[in-house]
Amino acid sequence: MPVTGLDPYDDQNIFAKILRGEIPNKTVYEDDAALAFHDIAPQAPVHVLVIPKGRYVSAVDFAGRASDREIAGFWRAVGRVAAKLGLEEGGYRILSNHGIHAGQEVPHFHVHVFGGGPLGRMIQPRS
Ligand code: AMP
Repeated sequence: MPVTGLDPYDDQNIFAKILRGEIPNKTVYEDDAALAFHDIAPQAPVHVLVIPKGRYVSAVDFAGRASDREIAGFWRAVGRVAAKLGLEEGGYRILSNHGIHAGQEVPHFHVHVFGGGPLGRMIQPRS
């Protein structure tokens, strides 16, 4: 089911299960604020997901309800992930899908970190 952007948090979503250790993941980085792991279906030479540890559905939910400490910790973790993966020199893209038009599949806030080579246009023309 697509995520509407208005859904309440679902504790059975796949990233909640990953955070509880019920589903394995290929961890890149972890600290108090965030977990980063390789996307199971990579769309770039490097494709990592960074998720906060708290229960937030989307970027707006996170920005609205998370503490300043959680927000700062999350974005610092994103930067650390990029550095750890050696993406800083070549550059990378951060993306977050929100709701139906963006195709959000997992209702736990996450950012995609893409890199490892030229990434092409930011948005593909609609067919
Ligand atoms: P989004 O469409 O922005 O919600 O992105 C969800 C992402 O989660 C997709 O890129 C999926 O490939 C990825 N994904 C789904 N299940 C897993 C999993 N178990 N481990 C790693 N990545 C996953």
